[in-house]
This record gives sequence, C-alpha cells and structure tokens, in this order.
Amino acid sequence: MTRLTSPLLTLLNTRHEKRTITHARFVMRGADVAVETGLTKREVLAAREAHGWNELPAMAQAGPWRVLLRQFTSFLVLILIVAAAVALALGERMDAVTIALVVFLNAGLGFVQEWKAETALGALRDLLSPQAMVLRDGQEQVIPAREVVPGDILVLVPGAKIAADAMVIHATELAVDESVLTGESVPVSKNDDQAPSVYAGTSVTAGRAEARVMATGGATEFGKIANLTGSVGVKTTNLQLKLGQLARQLGIAALLVAAGVVCLGLLLGRDLTEMVMTGLSLAVAMVPEGLPAVVTITLALGATAMVRRQALARRLQAVETLGAASTICTDKTGTLTENKMTATKVWTFDRQYDVTGTGYDPAGHIEADGIRLRASDDPVLAALLETGLHCSHAHLERDGDSWKMVGAPTEGALITLGYKGWCDLPLDRAILAEIPFSSARKKMSVLYQSGGHVDVLTKGAPEQVLKACTEIMTQGGPRPLTAAVRETVVEAYSDLAQKGLRVMALARKPAPDDQLSEDAMIFVGLVGIIDPPRAEVRQAISLARAAGIRVIMITGDSPITAGAIAGQLDLNVSRQLTGADLDALDDAALSEILREDVLFARTKPEQKMRIVSALQAQGQIVAMTGDGVNDAPALKQADIGISMGVRGTDVARDASDLVLLDDNFATIVGAIGEGRRQFANVQKFVRYLLSSNAGEVIALVVNIAIGGPLVFLATQILWMNLVTDGVTAVALGLEKSEPDQMEQQPRRKDTAILGRSGIITIIVLGTYTGLSSLWIFFSLMDQGVELARTTAFTAMVVFEKISVFAFRSLRLTGWRIGWFSNPFLLLALTVTLGAQVLAVYWGPLQVLLKTVPMGLDQWITIALFTLPLLIVPEILKAVRLSIQRTK
Ligand code: ATP
Repeated sequence: MTRLTSPLLTLLNTRHEKRTITHARFVMRGADVAVETGLTKREVLAAREAHGWNELPAMAQAGPWRVLLRQFTSFLVLILIVAAAVALALGERMDAVTIALVVFLNAGLGFVQEWKAETALGALRDLLSPQAMVLRDGQEQVIPAREVVPGDILVLVPGAKIAADAMVIHATELAVDESVLTGESVPVSKNDDQAPSVYAGTSVTAGRAEARVMATGGATEFGKIANLTGSVGVKTTNLQLKLGQLARQLGIAALLVAAGVVCLGLLLGRDLTEMVMTGLSLAVAMVPEGLPAVVTITLALGATAMVRRQALARRLQAVETLGAASTICTDKTGTLTENKMTATKVWTFDRQYDVTGTGYDPAGHIEADGIRLRASDDPVLAALLETGLHCSHAHLERDGDSWKMVGAPTEGALITLGYKGWCDLPLDRAILAEIPFSSARKKMSVLYQSGGHVDVLTKGAPEQVLKACTEIMTQGGPRPLTAAVRETVVEAYSDLAQKGLRVMALARKPAPDDQLSEDAMIFVGLVGIIDPPRAEVRQAISLARAAGIRVIMITGDSPITAGAIAGQLDLNVSRQLTGADLDALDDAALSEILREDVLFARTKPEQKMRIVSALQAQGQIVAMTGDGVNDAPALKQADIGISMGVRGTDVARDASDLVLLDDNFATIVGAIGEGRRQFANVQKFVRYLLSSNAGEVIALVVNIAIGGPLVFLATQILWMNLVTDGVTAVALGLEKSEPDQMEQQPRRKDTAILGRSGIITIIVLGTYTGLSSLWIFFSLMDQGVELARTTAFTAMVVFEKISVFAFRSLRLTGWRIGWFSNPFLLLALTVTLGAQVLAVYWGPLQVLLKTVPMGLDQWITIALFTLPLLIVPEILKAVRLSIQRTK
C-alpha cells in the first residue's frame, strides 16, 4: 500500500503538489490519461497577441454626439423650430432668437441628463461582464471571459455560460443548453469519447467537463451571429411606456387647445402674429415632453443608487417593479444564512463526536467523551472522514496565514473536517467515475480508487442516502439496517436538524467490479454543519413585515433545519410543506395554503415555478431568488427574478432582473425600499410638472376668453417650462424616501401615476395659480401692461417654484419629512428663482423676455398670493393624517 501522508502536512509543505493532486483527482480517468495543467502565462500572452481579446465589437453604445443629436429630434423641438420660423417670418427677430436660445438651452439640459443616464447604465453593464473558469499553470482560476485565449482549458460546471468555442477533453455527464444557437430547448448531452465541441454563448446544464478553446471572439459560431455582451436591458420600462403615452395624449390635446385658442382669438379680433405665437407657446406649455427623459434619468440614477446598496438592476424595469413587490420567495442557504459552513457534530451508530474550530481553518479537533480523536484511532470515524474528503470537488488552499476554501461550502466543511481528524490523503487516489450532485437528487457519488481497492462513496441529504443503504457501519463492523436502527438514525438526524444544523449523511461500499451504483450501501454516519443566519436578516425580515411584504422560505434543505433557522430569524411559519407534499396538492389547495405563513423545504428548483405562478394568480407581485441552472424558469416567471452575484450561476444571472452583489436577503429589502422611493418620486414630479403647466394654460385660456391683452408672451412661457421647471422636476426626483415609506402596504402594480387625487390636485392648484396671476395682471394694468405682464409672469414662476413643497410628499407634512432634507431641491430653487430675478432686472434678459423692473409692492403682492400655496397643502395633509390616525 502507498505511504499515506497527513493532508495537513501535504498542504503546509508542498502547496504546488497539493494543487496538482487536487486537480489530478478530477481529471484522471485511469492511470494512462495525462494530467492537464493548462497554458502558461507566456503562452497566454502569445495567444492573445495572435488572436486578440475574446470579445465582439462592442454593441454600438450611443456616443456623446449621438445623444446630443437626439435632443434636436423631439416633437417639442419641432414645435419650437416652427415657432422660431413663424416669428422670423412675421418679423419678430427677437422672439426668434429667444426661441433658438431656449432650444439650445433645453438641448443642453437634456444632453446632460441623458448622458448621465447613459454613463450610469454603461457602468452597470461593465459590472455584468461575464467570467470564465480556466485552468492555467495547473491552477483553476476565474478570469474575465474576455481574457480567454485559444488553447486555454475551460472548466465547465453546471450553470456556467461557455466563454468560447471549445473541444471537450474530459466530461462527466456533460449536458449543454444550445438553444441560443439552435433554438433547441432540450439540453444536448456531450460525451468525451466523441470529442464534441461546445460553443460560446451556450450554457452547461449538468455535469462537469474540461474543454480546450478552439476559437474566441468574432471567430466563434456565436460571434458570427450575435453579440456576446451581457446587456443591461435598455428595454423601455412600463413606467416609461405609460408616461410616453400620457405625453402623446397631452400633446394631441395641446395642439387641439392651441388651435382652438388661436381661432377664438382671431374671432375676437386679435392680431394674427400674436395669436399664432400664443398658440404655439400654449402647445409648448401643455406638452410635457421632458417627462420620459426625466423618468429615464431618475431610474438610471436610481439603479446607480441601488448598486451602492449591493443590488444591481439588470433591467431598469426591475427598479420600478421592485417598489410594488408584495411577496419575497427566498432560498435559505447563503441568502438568509452566511453560507460559511463548519461541521460541529458527527454522529455514528455507536459514537458521537464534537468538533471544534470555525470556518475553513483546519486548526480544530474532533473529540468524543472528552477525548481527542484522529482517524487512525477510530475506524468508523476514519471511514466517515475519508468519504467526506473524497466525495467532493472542493479543496483548501493556504492563503498567507489563513486558509481559503475553493468550491461549495457544504463540501468545504467536510474537507475541513477531514483535515481536523488527520484523515489520510494517499498519493495514488483517483476518482474513476461520478454521479454528480443535483438539487433534485440531493446526493452525489463517486467511484474512488486508492491503495489498490475501489469503493463507492456517497454523500447527501440523510433521507436520500438512507434510502440507498441496507447496512450501517459500527465499531464491530457493518450490521443490517433494521427498521429499529433506521429509526435511531432518523432520530439522530432530527436532533441535529432541530438545532438548526444542516445535516449531511455519508455512506460507502466496496466496488470490486468497478461499477458505480448507489444501492446496497453501508451507512457510515451523519455530519451536523452549522451555517449561521446572517446578522442583518432578522431586522430585514421584520422591516419587510412592517412594509406589508410577505417572506416565504423555499429551500432544498430539510424541514427541521429550515424551521429552526426560521425560528432564529423570527420568520413567522404556521405551516411547513415539503416538495413531496407540494406535488400532492392541486392548484386550488396550493392557493389556499399560500395564504398562510408557509415554509417550503426539500423542494426541487422546478417546483419554485409553480409556487410563483400560484402567488401571481392571487395578484401578488413576486420577487424570487435563485442561483442554480434549474432556477432560471422561475426567475423568468417571477415579477422580479433575483440572482446571486457571489454564488450564482451565469444561467440564473441571465434569467434575472436583479443581481445581489452580496447574496444577502437584507439587500432585497433595501432594494425594495429604493424601488418604492423611485416610484413615489416619479409620481411626485409628474404631478408637479403637470400642475405647473395647468396654471399657465388656465391663465392663457381664461384671459383670451375674457378678451384681455396677452398675459404671458411666448418667450416667457418657454422660459417657465423649459428653463425653470425641468431643473426643479429632476431635483424632486432625487427626494429621499419618506420616513414611514416602509410602513406602508405595497402599492398595486397598476397604480396610476396620476390617479383621481392627482388630477384633482392638478386642477385645483392650476386654477389657483392661473387665476391668481391673471388677477395680479389685471390689477396692475393701470401701471402699464409691461409691468403687469412682468409681475404676472414672475408670480407664475414663483408659484410654480414654491408649490413644489406640496409635492415633496403626497401624504406627509413638510415638518415630518424635513423642510431642508433635499439639498438638490433647495439648490434648484435658489438657481431658478435667482434666474427669475435676473430675468426681471438684467438688461439682456429684459430684452429677450420683454420684462421691466418690478418694485417692492409687486414682490409683496406675489408673496401674499404665494403664501397659501405653502400653507394650505400642509394644513390639508395634517388634517388628512389625523383623520387617518383616528380611524
Ligand atoms: P437552499 O435551497 O436554501 O439554497 P440547499 O443548499 O440545502 O438550500 P440544495 O442545494 O438544493 O439546497 O441542496 C439540497 C440538499 O442536498 C441539501 O440540504 C443537502 O442535504 C444536499 N447537498 C447539498 N450540497 C450537496 C453536495 N455538494 N453533495 C451532496 N449533497 C449535497
């Protein structure tokens, strides 16, 4: 028999040897197969020199010129250009110049906003750039996919997106989804005896493989037909669609009203030039052309704010839908818990052990009855440790003074346990075959060769492993697994699970015929693994509860462990269901159960889809987490599919709307808060902008109807709408969340942006500001029409600026949200009111806007009319709130 070495020593002394061994275990399928070590650094550089980066010519991202040009193609600009042309034709040179200036100013503002949105989205796109696992210099490494070169060895695992065209060298049960290339949705199985090819852009659905890269970038099959870049969806969101529609409807209404006003004016004997200019300015006043752009920038800036909270929105739509989320379906391992696993208990038939130490540092020990034990002291313990150590793909690496685990945390815990028990690591070991782990099977097995004999080693969920066993290992040798013994095992398993431990069962059997079958196994024992709940999750769950959002845990782990973790997190659970229970339910019964506080355990990823659909049928807006290949359909079906940035697979990420950069449940709740804030802000500025426009329209129309001289000139209307309102609206979009935002019930998905109360507010405010400025206009008429018009114009600007306070919260008073809590808004108000003072007193603007200097009296009049705009909404809000409170 080959000399056995302690793994700890091997690790400490011969790091390189250990790496190679680790790898050799994976690729060796018989002694004659060479061990792959991959390209060296120099070879990579040479290949890159010859073939370039593994990327396609980037999708033409709009450059600054394009964004600038876009500003001159909108409906609004067309109206303005017509207006300028008409003004010129009618000999109003000054008006034409003013309008041209407004066009440029507006384009400048639009450009700044859109460019900011464009760069924010660009930065998000970079965060999403794909990765690839390769073997280089004998080491598995994760590198950006663009760095892959021909000759590289790709390591393919389930859920990975394949980064380049490659030929398979070794494969275990490899299946690939090639639907992006072929449209064929059934995964294609690839066996290494036929040396099949795998293609860039496709993804691994099952198995493991190594493949040598044959073509990269534009030379790949995928490169010939499509673009590889992971894209942040630039698809128009619902909100943008709705607002676009609203803008169009208002545009048509504006043209009709404008035409009506022009006709009316002409009938009343008004001057043609004056009426045409008024008509055009009225149209401009009514068309909220800026709306969709303001929404885009708000959502794009919001997406950037979310990244700061560790949530990356792959589609802008997600930001908007998140705010309406009413149910979060979350998995447990890694999202609610740390996913840092440590084995703390070992159970065998006639001995139980405690394990010390934390994390993946092998500096701990195993003890039973107060005595420290090593594998060599206890044959059953040795068999258990060996099974956990070799039935695995994980390994430990020394990283300076600490230890790093590479692979799945559950496996890492078992490897660390093996090291703590000084389990032997023979040099001649090999994995001859494997039946891989899947969330559906909940176990894995390997055919393991060492020291001249071959064994089947199995590990997995206790129920699954126990089913495959007929004997149990004891200190006195294997004995039959009778019903009574089975009962003992189940009890031991429940005991461990009740403590919130994740329990893995280990079994093995000799395989003299070299066949890998999972029947008639010998049960070796159980390992209890601690995976502590994340510290911040408890609070996040109670925050979600207060916000009317239900949290449903759907896990592959056992109901007892899941229940214990739910208890530790204060997650209400009145009913537990396993995947098998779920299958036995019809849709009606499932729907009924989903009204309770239910927890799903031992589920298969495929079952998540059914749960999402059932919740959606109840009208819930569902956010669903998932990290594996089989989670993709449920992620797509959910209103907000959430994938994991750290432990997720490429396939899950591709199917999701939101990626959690830290895999943390608390991040979801934070992102929902951000989504709520943004929807509320869009609602605020839409109402604000429209109520400002309404005031101008009412003043103009009423004035023409009663036959007065023009109250606002065309250039003044343009100034109000395009110079001062846009800036204020963007600042309103940056409003912080309202203090009780997460104490409100989720909004319905179809909540109107305007709604009845919005329309009423717009009409009431519009009527007040419109009629007030008209009253000011007529009351000053005896001091000259210029002064009257300047004051009415200034009054309107001040009204519009000050009324913004009514929209900062549609429910709460200024005292509650803090009058000074939005510095952007205060800045916007200072700038725009400052600009208005210049408009009245600064020569060049006086010429452009045809204004005259106002006296103190006029300012006082304006202030008096402004006061109610500040006070009345506050009183109304306070009254409404106190009525609600007493209800
Ligand atoms: P969650 O669904 O909350 O992420 P989970 O990790 O327990 O939880 P799965 O990955 O579906 O869900 O695992 C299901 C079960 O399979 C686990 O509870 C465990 O018993 C077993 N298991 C997990 N990983 C492995 C593995 N690498 N080898 C064998 N069995 C495993």
